[in-house]
Amino acid sequence: MSSRRYPDTVDVAIVGSGPTASTYARILSEEAPGVTIAMFEVGPTVSSPPGAHVKNIGDAKRRSLAQRASEGPGAGAETVNSPGAVKSGERRARPGTYLLPDGYAFPGEDGMPVAAMSSNVGGMAAHWTAACPRPGGQERIAFLPDLEQLLEDADRLLGVTAHAFDGAPFSDLVRGRLAAVVDEGRDRAYRVQPMPLAVHRRKDGGLVWSGSDVVMGGVTRDNPEFELFDESLVTRVLVDDDGRAGGIEVQDRRSGESHQVAARYVVVGADALRTPQLLWASGIRPAALGRYLNDQAQVVFASRLRDVEAEHSPTAADGALSEQSGVAWVPYTDDAPFHGQIMQLDASPVPLAEDDPIVPGSIVGLGLFCAKDLQRDDRVAFDDDARDSYGMPAMRIHYRLTGRDHDVLERARQEIVRLGKAVGEPLDERPFVLPPGSSLHYQGTTRMGAADDGESVCSPDSQVWQVPGLFVAGNGVIPTATACNPTLTAVALAVRGARRIAEEITSSLLMSKSDIRLTK
Ligand code: FAD
Repeated sequence: MSSRRYPDTVDVAIVGSGPTASTYARILSEEAPGVTIAMFEVGPTVSSPPGAHVKNIGDAKRRSLAQRASEGPGAGAETVNSPGAVKSGERRARPGTYLLPDGYAFPGEDGMPVAAMSSNVGGMAAHWTAACPRPGGQERIAFLPDLEQLLEDADRLLGVTAHAFDGAPFSDLVRGRLAAVVDEGRDRAYRVQPMPLAVHRRKDGGLVWSGSDVVMGGVTRDNPEFELFDESLVTRVLVDDDGRAGGIEVQDRRSGESHQVAARYVVVGADALRTPQLLWASGIRPAALGRYLNDQAQVVFASRLRDVEAEHSPTAADGALSEQSGVAWVPYTDDAPFHGQIMQLDASPVPLAEDDPIVPGSIVGLGLFCAKDLQRDDRVAFDDDARDSYGMPAMRIHYRLTGRDHDVLERARQEIVRLGKAVGEPLDERPFVLPPGSSLHYQGTTRMGAADDGESVCSPDSQVWQVPGLFVAGNGVIPTATACNPTLTAVALAVRGARRIAEEITSSLLMSKSDIRLTK
């Protein structure tokens, strides 16, 4: 007997439960009440409320279990907390993520050896660092006149603040030392400043990291027309005879059964690798699908603040960021096309001498993310004859750093040493370039365009050009080469798409009501 747990029909079917998919659920709940919404997530629920950041789980053992449960087919593999620790050359995922097991590199190409994913309610945003800087210069999407307003909406949905670590010891000092070597000649928006972060403090002072739970908010959770189905793999987007999206096919991972759910709109927010995978598996294969894949090459370095003494400070918490830690932002500019994230750490990433106690907050990890030189041939392709561990078409990543990428990386290496020396005494002999994929910021694979010219997959509203009713969400939609952390921008783009659906559904409901009145 079938144990179907899904509705037969909904207005909107949403694939994935990361922050961008959750943006659709939130905006529709706010702006189109009464619309039925079903969200399908392949991974399990690992936190409460569903989608909450696992760092908010106080108990270390439960937190570790939640991370393991998010690692899909990779669960059980060794993970690595700090990106710098991959210096040993090993391929290791960060906790809560798993690596593409094969097809990540081909002879003569750089590949993307540490391309990673998360499979859990909340997606990668149950594990992220929550840095939410705004894009600047050429990172911005020139054909979107309302981008600034959308970014403000995204700040609201993610709960972004630049003041979470105002009390951290030495954060003013770090920013001051960076500003002295960076700010000259820069407009105010591009000067050194506190990193905007998606975090808030509870009344008792404890930190809460935003995940999809914050994006969804009470308005989604309390919406009687919204349902979230975990452990549900969407295997196909259904397309009606007229070419319009008509629903989804979903495999219940608990029972193994497959079902169809009819929907007027389908939103796929299944990350920048699996969104194009699902479209491909559905026979939706626009020329730009999977192309212009880009990751932000990352250079890391560490320094120890000079001339600082321990201040009174709370006990260090677990994780890369704790009560001691400030995060400074050196914004991207078109002239210096890297984005700087300078984090005070509570422990040294390299062992110091035993008789050399660490002043909390005095070790500074520096990271520069570089904007990629976009190439059409950089792509995630899919193999119809091979399956991944979920039974979906296997991914094949073709990825190369160009001469320009190497030039930018060399400039980033020099810049990071300059910044490291400005704040203190370098702990590293030289900066380290992480393997491609380390940024966890994959973009471009379902890119937005101003026109359907074969170079983009979706419209400025995120609707797939050739398939009305089908929307894509996530970092893959971002068409520019950003160096800054992309989630805020991807959420902003999702706000626009969600509003388009809300408007269309609301006006069609109004029209059908007036039709009823006319025929009475
Ligand atoms: P995701 O959050 O990846 O969610 C996609 C979801 O879709 C997943 O849960 C997946 O299981 C599900 N899914 C996939 N395929 C299917 C299918 N066929 N059927 C059903 N469900 C499916 N970004 C920043 O901007 N700032 C940061 O500071 C930052 N730090 C990070 C640190 C770490 C350690 C990690 C892991 C990530 C970090 N990121 C950061 C990246 C950030 O988490 C992602 O950009 C963001 O989560 C992307 O949101 P999304 O909704 O597009 O996709």
